Amino acid sequence: AKEGGRGRHAMFEEPLDARLHERGALLADLRQAVARRELLLHYQPRVAAADSRIRSAEALVRWQHPGRGLVPPGVFIPLAEESDLIESIGSWVLDEACRQLALWRRQGRVLERLSVNVSPRQLQSGRLVEEVEAALLRHGVPWRQLELEVTESLLVGDARQASAQLAELRQRGVLIALDDFGTGYSSLATLRDLPIDVMKVDRAFVRDLGADASAQAITRAILTLAQSLGKHSVAEGIEGEAQAAALRQLGCDELQGYLFGRPMPAAEFEQRLPHVSAA
Ligand code: C2E
Ligand code: CA
Ligand code: CA
Ligand code: CA
Repeated sequence: AKEGGRGRHAMFEEPLDARLHERGALLADLRQAVARRELLLHYQPRVAAADSRIRSAEALVRWQHPGRGLVPPGVFIPLAEESDLIESIGSWVLDEACRQLALWRRQGRVLERLSVNVSPRQLQSGRLVEEVEAALLRHGVPWRQLELEVTESLLVGDARQASAQLAELRQRGVLIALDDFGTGYSSLATLRDLPIDVMKVDRAFVRDLGADASAQAITRAILTLAQSLGKHSVAEGIEGEAQAAALRQLGCDELQGYLFGRPMPAAEFEQRLPHVSAA
């Protein structure tokens, strides 16, 4: 919270035109990033609560900027979301995730599924189903191996159209996860209105587990809700053993966080995947 405060403060002190210029420069570079192959995916393991084995992973996009080094998605995704760029970045992410999944399959490396973040604009385009299908077919990946993470902010636009697309994807076998659960404004209505399989407990609650009785109570309530609705649950942002123990005790299905591994390049992540000998 301290760092966020400092960041905001610094932003206000910088003159407005300098900030706009900076944004414009970054956006211009971002327009070239896909074509110049500057984007890459990192993979963060998610382990089964029951045996701590890697069950799935979340793909997280990175931008290797020629001059600035690695730019975090917290900086460039919001920028891309304000323009049409998020659509081409989103397509690249989907294709790259499927390409990598197919490669691991051929190598006999076992990963039950891979989770990809989808921005509301990708759903608004109305082309998400086609795009997902094309990426899966291009690389020969089964629908079941893909999970899509959405946030309830997608309901701000055409909610019916968005949820119809998710329903179709789900019907074909893709898993739909509701990301950052509990941090939005209408979480319970979202749960009712969106066709989802997985609930992701936001890092904000996980962080305060153990230190804060209300974080514990809210996490317990979310996981109870997931169980009664028959949803799979994933908690993110787990950094300590005590948080992991608390989540296991509360019945969370999958755990994700620095404790089990940071987001890492494919070459590093695959070292941690079990092998099957080709049958
Ligand atoms: P998110 O989807 O909530 O992703 C989880 C973020 O938490 C990631 O930040 C991850 O590195 C970080 N994280 C994971 N474990 C821990 C932990 O134990 N402690 C702490 N402090 N942080 C942890 P990252 O990679 O910087 O991504 C930030 C956000 O950018 C993501 O939040 C997501 O909203 C967006 N994003 C990332 N990749 C994509 C993408 O391919 N497409 C879209 N549309 N958005 C993306
Ligand atoms: Ca996510
Ligand atoms: Ca999240
Ligand atoms: Ca988040």
